[in-house]
Amino acid sequence: MPVHECDVCIIGGGICSAMLARKVSELKPGLSIAVVEAGRSIFDVANRARYRQRTLDYGEHPWPDDFVEDQQGTGTISMTMAVGGLALHWGGACNRFSEEDLRLKSSYGLAVDWPLEWPELERYYCEAERRLNVSGEPSPYPGDRRSEPYPQPPIPLSYNLQVLKEWAEQSGLKFNGLPMARNLTPHDGRGSCCVFDTCGDAEKYVRPARDIRRTTRSGN
Ligand SMILES: Cc1cc2nc3c(=O)[nH]c(=O)nc-3n(C[C@H](O)[C@H](O)[C@H](O)COP(=O)(O)OP(=O)(O)OC[C@H]3O[C@@H](n4cnc5c(N)ncnc54)[C@H](O)[C@@H]3O)c2cc1C
Repeated sequence: MPVHECDVCIIGGGICSAMLARKVSELKPGLSIAVVEAGRSIFDVANRARYRQRTLDYGEHPWPDDFVEDQQGTGTISMTMAVGGLALHWGGACNRFSEEDLRLKSSYGLAVDWPLEWPELERYYCEAERRLNVSGEPSPYPGDRRSEPYPQPPIPLSYNLQVLKEWAEQSGLKFNGLPMARNLTPHDGRGSCCVFDTCGDAEKYVRPARDIRRTTRSGN
């Protein structure tokens, strides 16, 4: 068995470990960091469009081999165990908890209060949203107040959501779009969203940002 010496070892190669590895490397440049992932590396960009086409044509799994036989937890909705983890399939919705959620016990007698104050947590939300380049618009609810704007403007609402918003607002409900981690334009080494369901940047599917702004969905 090969031996890998490192200063920091992170078990599991999902999005949390990726963000942790990046943060540690920024805080302590020069540390060697190893990420140990039980699954395989399946992010086959070159063939992504082909897998997607086979899914459409034959109903095949668009992410072949994204799980480890006999290793899934019971009751999980996704079996994914691979480099990237569940974030290989996530929709990109980036909802926050609100200040109220942290005080369920003292406010409503439910569960337990979090051992954190809201301003302490909120600044980390801002940092995570900057790194993920989240699109969004400010919530109309005071409990959702933010100390920083979203890094990207909101993704335009699809036609059905525009209709829903119009009707919802007639009943007095306040309505705002779902915050989404999808690049409207290339950002931090990552391309813009191709509105492709599963990510892939095969050249023929890459569309200019103006098209993406017009057609991209606002939610899952
Ligand atoms: C279809 C789908 C849509 C989703 N949409 C959204 C969304 O829109 N918004 C949202 O916020 N969330 C969404 N989620 C949830 C989100 O993707 C996950 O909560 C998130 O990616 C979890 O990241 P993680 O790093 O905590 O864990 P994981 O992604 O589960 O990563 C853990 C990794 O650890 C590995 N591992 C486990 N045990 C070991 C071990 N003993 N040794 C080595 N490696 C190990 C696993 O193989 C896995 O790769 C969605 C999930 C799915 C499946």
